[in-house]
Order: sequence, then structure tokens, then C-alpha cells
Amino acid sequence: MHRVGIGTDTHRLGPGRRLVLGHVAIPHDHGSIAHSDGDVVLHALIDALAGAAGLPDIGEMFPDSDPAYRDADSGVLLEEVCRRVGDCGYAVVNVDLIVHAQRPRLSPYKAVMQAEIARLLGLPLDAVSIKAKTGEGVDAVGRGEAVACTAVAGLARKAVGNRLKTEIDGA
Ligand code: MG
Repeated sequence: MHRVGIGTDTHRLGPGRRLVLGHVAIPHDHGSIAHSDGDVVLHALIDALAGAAGLPDIGEMFPDSDPAYRDADSGVLLEEVCRRVGDCGYAVVNVDLIVHAQRPRLSPYKAVMQAEIARLLGLPLDAVSIKAKTGEGVDAVGRGEAVACTAVAGLARKAVGNRLKTEIDGA
């Protein structure tokens, strides 16, 4: 059985903050304004994985009112969600990501983001797709005031021995 989930995230950009996208620090004069590290790519991905597995959304799992998540490393949160997805009996098959940013241009960083996300998820490179889009000057992203991400994740029931877990569960 296959399942699909979708996630999106947006953060405003401001001076004096780091810009972290896909768990990669991107050189820029502005960064995400957020309670955590503001990594819109991993936040959208977490919601896509959670949605596919039937888990609560990122705000419910990791509330921004909880001081434990101040400046949190979103890679740690992603690994925790992957554990929970596994506990639900699913394995991640692939993820597809669209990063929306006017500045900086992200094409030089796509390969390193892809490799880092593949490492965090324990997936081969060809299971992680990253596309970078600009906002064409028409909205907050297009004016360089925000970054955003749209993510889709595909899951499959984990195999247990020679049998699928769905067969064992009788699902
Ligand atoms: Mg966020």
C-alpha cells in the first residue's frame, strides 16, 4: 500500500539571521525569521511525511511555544519524524520538493541540499528531487521578502521478513 502526503511552509526573511534551506547554510545577507532555524524545506518535508503517515502536523508535534524548540535544528526534528513514520509501519519511498526563493539564486546549492536530505532520510539520491523557483517579482517571495517550500512525500508499507506488514496486520 502506498500513501502520499503534502506540506508547505513560508518564512519571512530579515537581516541578522541565518538562511538554512534543506539543512544547508546558504550565504545571504538575510535569513529566516523563525522560532526554530526557519528551514522551510525541512518544515514542508516534515508536514508531507507526517501527512502521509497520518501523524499530527509539525506545529502539533513541535510547538513553537515550547522553549525546547527555540533555534531547533530542523534536521533533528526530521529524523524524529522519520522514526515516527517507521513506527507507523511505513518506509519513505521518495520526496519531491519545490523551493521558492527570489534571492539568493539556489541552483548552485540544489545538489548539496539533495545530498543532505537523502542522508537525513537514508534514501538514495534519486529518491530526493529538488526544484528551485523564483517568484517573478509578483509576491512576497518574488520581492525577496520570504522563502517558501512545497513538498510531497511517498510512503510504502515496510516489508517484515518476506511478508508485507499489511499482510501481518491483516490490513
Ligand atoms: Mg516553518
